[in-house]
Amino acid sequence: MAKSVKPIEGIAEPLVQWYTAHERAFPWRTEPTPYRVWVSEIMLQQTRIEAALPYFDRWMAALPTLRDLAEASEDTVLKLWEGLGYYSRARNLQKAAQQVMRDHGGELPSSYEELVKLPGIGDYTAGAIASIAFGKRAAAVDGNVLRVMARLTDDDRDVMQTKPRRELSELVRRLVPAAAPGEFNQGLMELGETICLPNAVPRCSDCPVREYCAVAGEERARDLPTRATAKPRRVEKRMVYVMITDEEPRRVLLHRRPAKGLLSGLWELPNALTDTEELQTLLDAAAVSETASLGEGRHVFSHVEWQMDGLLVTVKPFTPPDGYVFVTAEELASFALPTAFRTYTAMIPKLLTAEEEVQ
Ligand code: SF4
Repeated sequence: MAKSVKPIEGIAEPLVQWYTAHERAFPWRTEPTPYRVWVSEIMLQQTRIEAALPYFDRWMAALPTLRDLAEASEDTVLKLWEGLGYYSRARNLQKAAQQVMRDHGGELPSSYEELVKLPGIGDYTAGAIASIAFGKRAAAVDGNVLRVMARLTDDDRDVMQTKPRRELSELVRRLVPAAAPGEFNQGLMELGETICLPNAVPRCSDCPVREYCAVAGEERARDLPTRATAKPRRVEKRMVYVMITDEEPRRVLLHRRPAKGLLSGLWELPNALTDTEELQTLLDAAAVSETASLGEGRHVFSHVEWQMDGLLVTVKPFTPPDGYVFVTAEELASFALPTAFRTYTAMIPKLLTAEEEVQ
């Protein structure tokens, strides 16, 4: 007998009821001011909720209002973001806050149309802020929601492609109820995070909208949505230099990355592709007294993977070229260094105070 599936137009009520009963109490939900909802949505774009929580608390303690964010130094903002990656998101948060101070009297606009004009706020985030913080009827569709929709409607297209994405987003827009848009959107997201799981068998028997789902309880659910084959990541082999002066107070050399491209404008440990001569001039300028291996490290970005070899280079103090700076252990704490270098940055405080050299 053919399975009977209820029309999808009916999902709003059971979904909102389920969300309201199961809502997890996160700080941006218990106090959903527009500013807090906005910051949380940007933080959660590439980060799991549990991992983002301490960052959110730290951010709100340091920058409790939109004005505080607009007026903070860029270094403070980047330092608070350190470890979350994708630093352009932090920079855009600040740019948008400054724009809101200038053009909207310090209050985030409430409509999707105005929100989406701000730096770093795309379709999804504008819909999330408008619906959650302002109760406006707008959809918030991310990869999570697209997965749930592809399964509900048994759509086997690659939902990251423009056409299916647009059509499924349009369907969500039609389904958002005027009475509870924020709860509906959060319900769909929560469903995707806790029940209709990615790359796993979804927990259909616990799903509040299973009666509306075309693939409920079927093995096929796990295979949706389909994905066009992703391009393999490029692998780069890099040498990372932890260059330390041999006189007290010991200092470590940092380099500021170019204003454009990967990790733009951030401070880093000097590094270069192992098959280039890029850092040779720097090493030639220094009187190297000792070198020692710091072992291997690895970091995966979205399109490139760094396979690193760390080298401790002990040098006589010298005036570094433009774009480089020597800092003490104390000064280092105020520099935002990308997580990519964590294997080596974690060693620096000890190296700057150690009496014994690394073997
Ligand atoms: Fe996902 Fe299963 Fe719910 Fe369908 S019934 S939406 S596949 S969890």
